[in-house]
Amino acid sequence: MDSNEVKAIVEANIRPMVDALCLAHWRIGINYTKTGRDNWIAMCDRSGGDYFVASIIIDPEMHDDEREVLKSLRHELLHLHLTPFDLYRDAMTQHIVNDTPEAGQENRLWAFACEQTLVNVERLLVNLPRESLKLVSDLKPVKKKVTTP
Ligand SMILES: [Zn+2]
Repeated sequence: MDSNEVKAIVEANIRPMVDALCLAHWRIGINYTKTGRDNWIAMCDRSGGDYFVASIIIDPEMHDDEREVLKSLRHELLHLHLTPFDLYRDAMTQHIVNDTPEAGQENRLWAFACEQTLVNVERLLVNLPRESLKLVSDLKPVKKKVTTP
């Protein structure tokens, strides 16, 4: 797709999507360019996660239609919910030297765990009935039955 087409789709949909995914407290920049990784159609940099700042890259050439763009956008936004685990990873990998088999092993496990978690969350979001997404505060209280002995 053309970069301007993808940008128009994102700009028309990002605010309601961010609100629906409970990410309104994040400052998120979107870039429309190559990810720099083979076969990656989009990516999310949440290295500013301590301050709720993130950057998403969407490669326009790797998307064929609006549906694909929105799916990528949702997926990359969902990555932001994994930010609390970044601190754990940073602490646990302090002793691992870059470009070693151990670093490769850890990176492969990390990527697998993150992506599989998001696949499960995406399935959950798609399959949940709309009523179950209501906030608890939106639900009407159930009247208690008064029983007499
Ligand atoms: Zn992902």
